[in-house]
Amino acid sequence: MASIIFRFQVPIRGGPDMRPAYSGAYTNAAGQLLYRDGVVENWASQSGGRMDATFIDRKGNRIELPGVNISPLWTQHNAGFTMATGNIYLDPANGLVDVEHEYGHYLDQQANGTLYYIFKVMPLSFINATFHGDTHQFYWTEIAADRQAIQFFEPNSAIAKSSYYPH
Ligand SMILES: [Zn+2]
Repeated sequence: MASIIFRFQVPIRGGPDMRPAYSGAYTNAAGQLLYRDGVVENWASQSGGRMDATFIDRKGNRIELPGVNISPLWTQHNAGFTMATGNIYLDPANGLVDVEHEYGHYLDQQANGTLYYIFKVMPLSFINATFHGDTHQFYWTEIAADRQAIQFFEPNSAIAKSSYYPH
């Protein structure tokens, strides 16, 4: 469904406002961001505004992520978070299943509203992750994201088959 949009887009090597910070440590020669079990390409419309990301797994399968941009910066090891703007910050130690989980947060925000996301989900999720990091994946904000992601990526997806993320 996103393919028509993608035709009019150009790849950006690492993100519009963060280019200098994307050193070779995060990317391969093609400018793709390196993750545990695949790579990420970020795309932006030539007129600005809209952004999309694609995750490409080791078999070459392309998982399209309309509306978001993925950055490896500003996260603790293994961590990830999703802004209401669709900017996902995800440590390179993560993989497709975590990308799909973070995308679920974006879908949750799209479905339930920016105010709900900014004033309820983000602070409560942050507090829970800070003080109960070992059980954070069972917190309601996380399960809401997983449900959205499974609905979007369908039953054969990494998130649907995950034994780490409950659903
Ligand atoms: Zn989460």
